[in-house]
Amino acid sequence: MSLNKKVVLITGASRGIGRSVAEDLANQGCYIVINYLNNKEKATYLKDLIKKKYNTKAITIQADVSIEQEVKRLVKQILQQFSTIDILVNNAAIVIDKPFFKRNVVDFDKTIDTNLKGPFLLCKYIAPIMLKNKGGKIINIASTNGINTFDPNSIDYDASKAGIISLTHNLAIELAPYVNVNAVAPGWINTDMNKNISENLLLQEKEKIYLKRFGEPIEVAKLVSFLASDDANYINGEIIKIDGGI
Ligand code: NAP
Repeated sequence: MSLNKKVVLITGASRGIGRSVAEDLANQGCYIVINYLNNKEKATYLKDLIKKKYNTKAITIQADVSIEQEVKRLVKQILQQFSTIDILVNNAAIVIDKPFFKRNVVDFDKTIDTNLKGPFLLCKYIAPIMLKNKGGKIINIASTNGINTFDPNSIDYDASKAGIISLTHNLAIELAPYVNVNAVAPGWINTDMNKNISENLLLQEKEKIYLKRFGEPIEVAKLVSFLASDDANYINGEIIKIDGGI
């Protein structure tokens, strides 16, 4: 699948990794759907930038991926604009850092609903379009926290990321042989997601990384673009870590 004019939905693309993925795929000629939750200004800025800098189509759609009706509306609006969806990047997620004994059901549900139920719903409503097209790529943004990095301050986040890895493996079976379903699992990446973590902890974490630095969103975006491209057509059901070596 050449990336030129492919219709891509990136959830949570107003900031951070999602924004970089949107820009990198726009640079390769994709039509970009920028989904966001609250940050209309940043999403609109990105849409205008993409159109101007990469000379391709881009739209913004506000929708909460944790709510089924909103996901249905999101998919409907994309089909009205572009008639199809070729690539889905399940990127939107939240983390609520709180000690285990202070966590409550509201935090737990919100995290699981956004990070796991959201990707499930997006796959449920977009996979039929890809199956009809006999082709498509789904790339889920997991985390090393779903594999081998654990933090009791974010058990629901870690569980959601383990869950999205399981979703990836299961959908690679369910959607075969037409849709490639893969995940990337970043380690520490410089985005807003880590802005409330203490400087001290961040320094300790940096020391554990072989490369002695956190990653940049564009470094994750390059891996996502590769998985979306024809060069990755024989990669399926795979979880690829991008963490500088921990
Ligand atoms: P971020 O900077 O906090 O951005 C999160 C994005 O998700 C924003 O665009 C936000 O929209 C959107 N979002 C949040 N809840 C949403 C909802 N219910 N519906 C739709 N959009 C929603 O996050 P990031 O660091 O770029 O993370 C991107 C992905 O990488 C996530 O899956 C995260 O778990 C994963 N990851 C990140 C790191 C890291 O160190 N940063 C490490 C491993 C994995 P608004 O701007 O409108 O609020």
